[in-house]
Amino acid sequence: MSPDPPDWLSQGLPHIWLPYAQMKTAPPPLPVVRTNGARITLADGRELVDGIASWWTACHGYNHPHIREAVIAQLGAMPHIMFGGLAHEPALTLALRLAALLPKPLDRVFFSDSGSVAVEVAMKMAVQFWLNRGIAGRNRFVAFKGGYHGDTFATMAVCDPDEGMHRLFSKVLPSQIIAELPTDALRREAFDALLERHAGEVAAILVEPLVQGAGGMIFHDPETLRYLREAADRHDLLLIFDEIFTGFGRTGTLFACEAADVAPDIVTLSKALTGGTMGLAATIATAAIFETFLSEDFGRALMHGPTFMANPLACAAANASLDLFAREPRLEQAAKIEAALRLGLEPCRNFSRVVDVRVKGAIGVVELDRIDDINELKRRFVAAGVWVRPFGKIVYLTPAFTIDEADLQRLIGAVVAVLKDYLSPTQR
Ligand SMILES: *Cc1c(COP(=O)(O)O)cnc(C)c1O
Repeated sequence: MSPDPPDWLSQGLPHIWLPYAQMKTAPPPLPVVRTNGARITLADGRELVDGIASWWTACHGYNHPHIREAVIAQLGAMPHIMFGGLAHEPALTLALRLAALLPKPLDRVFFSDSGSVAVEVAMKMAVQFWLNRGIAGRNRFVAFKGGYHGDTFATMAVCDPDEGMHRLFSKVLPSQIIAELPTDALRREAFDALLERHAGEVAAILVEPLVQGAGGMIFHDPETLRYLREAADRHDLLLIFDEIFTGFGRTGTLFACEAADVAPDIVTLSKALTGGTMGLAATIATAAIFETFLSEDFGRALMHGPTFMANPLACAAANASLDLFAREPRLEQAAKIEAALRLGLEPCRNFSRVVDVRVKGAIGVVELDRIDDINELKRRFVAAGVWVRPFGKIVYLTPAFTIDEADLQRLIGAVVAVLKDYLSPTQR
């Protein structure tokens, strides 16, 4: 830490409540004054190479000039306007572009302001889809161990039971069906039996395609997604893909569902949607779902409308981000990062207590048997000049696609060196 923290930090800290932090023991957050590309500048002038891209959002690096210019232009014209009864070009252009980029049946875009809300909207759409068709009793969801879908109440209930703190909130949370991902024949048999038992009360299956992110960066293969699509069809259930983490190139294709050539009935997007510029999320449904909401009866309409939905600044940033995906070689950059992570993280496999090293797209993961002193590990990464945030049992990298070779090697080198030292028997 800087010997002299800025006044705003020391004065504001007693009044702030930090995310996912035990406030009694958490080390104070590092004061940041600037970002640029894959670099974070601290108040004392130190620069950290960012391995996390701000919770996976800043896929083009920070302060990309094209996004900045789009937001500045939009700020001059119209920072915000309510979306009830009024429309604006950034949102409608963005809806058109998202529908064009996603697999064909996904067609109708509902905007919101955060990922959790986008998932809640998807769940609401799924429940009401059945009601609008006159089918009662389908109020529950099938979700998966290791999954993460947000921090609000409805989404907590479909997270992994530990992640969602189901025990703590058991009196408040609706009881959902949390299954093992059907990744092999045995589990598929069990999953099928489970659907058989519960089909009449289930609205939809909800899954993060290919990578369960916040639940521990757990990978599954495209075949599992194809199986889920088949199972959903066989039992007449909707299938929701939460692509909030995987969307926009992170797993190597623009959307993870492309790798399986499977289309869900509803998809949720957020995180990298605005290139990390500001909060925005979208829930996109098929025309078939949308049509069940059409009626002379107002009661069949989707009753939802966040105050800041489709914020024009955020939509302008998202459109600029999509320009960059169209115009710059993001997927090739992701493939290069994948190759570098594969090669570079491999030595970690030989360290004692490393149980797995895995890479998919621009996601590199080193899993340990446990991390005893996570704050110490975090401190060592900062001392090594990188911003890496281990959680649970894993250390992972999800850098911006635009990171240059030298900074990427610095990140990988820091993970290898810090873990080697941290896990060496004399250190324990
Ligand atoms: C981050 C995340 C969410 C929640 O998004 P927020 O914007 O934090 O509410 C939901 N689903 C997945 C897969 C996520 O990674």
